[in-house]
Amino acid sequence: MRILRKPSELLELREQNRRDGTVVGLVPTMGYLHEGHLSLIKAARAETGLVVMSLFVNPTQFRPGEDLSVYPRDEERDFQMAEKAGVDVIYAPSPDDVYPDGFATRVEVTGLTEVLEGDPASRGPGHFSGVTTIVSKLLNAVDPDVAYFGQKDAQQATVIRRMAEDLDFRARISILPTVRERDGLAMSSRNAYLSPEARERAASIWAALLETEKVTAESGLEAGLVAGRARLEAAGIEPEYFDARVPGTLDPADPESEETVLVAVAAPVDGTRLIDNILIEPRKTRSIR
Ligand code: AMP
Repeated sequence: MRILRKPSELLELREQNRRDGTVVGLVPTMGYLHEGHLSLIKAARAETGLVVMSLFVNPTQFRPGEDLSVYPRDEERDFQMAEKAGVDVIYAPSPDDVYPDGFATRVEVTGLTEVLEGDPASRGPGHFSGVTTIVSKLLNAVDPDVAYFGQKDAQQATVIRRMAEDLDFRARISILPTVRERDGLAMSSRNAYLSPEARERAASIWAALLETEKVTAESGLEAGLVAGRARLEAAGIEPEYFDARVPGTLDPADPESEETVLVAVAAPVDGTRLIDNILIEPRKTRSIR
């Protein structure tokens, strides 16, 4: 496994891949790897000839006062896990190399980024322009055939799909299912912040989404949302949002709709902000995870 630190090294790699006709898969991460990340790497390993994983805690997608300075990091452990999972090249640059003096460009997707996570009452739209700018840079510099993202960050996946289409990126954007702990909690690097008590309570987030799915199938979406929110409240968790949206547009879902609905939640558990979601087909009991 090769470890690259400089954007210039990435450009050399891109040129070489182009000459050799190598099919390239890119897995962008902020590190502190878990099974969710590994599922993306494994898919890339199975589908492409050269797997590139980026490891960069991107400062521009954190708001002032968020957890940038304490975000969990363990590069050595990440390198070992990545190599074992089949990564060929790690790109782990420094912030100064990614954003040198004079850096002045932002890539912004409108509309989709102004709701849910992008609502000013949550993280705000600046979060997503941080994400779309870094992902644009990575897509340009690596020029992958396929880039892999997780459904865990459903809105991020939607925004990146939109951006890739709007800006004519060549890469296919592949979105893979959320990997969960045994009790249903979505795997996340931020789960490391949870105390044992909070960790146990955090499982209620997935339980609430399943409750919404069940009650929606029986009594419709509005009742489903009420039941899901009540399940969270019973666990002493007050969500920032617990909303039903149209996948793809993120418009509010029509409660009578028979189409697939995205129910997304963000909730602080003992000060740790967790997100999760479920795709529900209102007229069927089957969900897509
Ligand atoms: P992060 O390191 O948290 O920025 O995540 C890097 C990529 O892994 C993103 O595309 C995430 O959506 C994806 N990811 C994070 N957690 C999970 C999970 N539990 N299951 C599947 N993918 C995930």
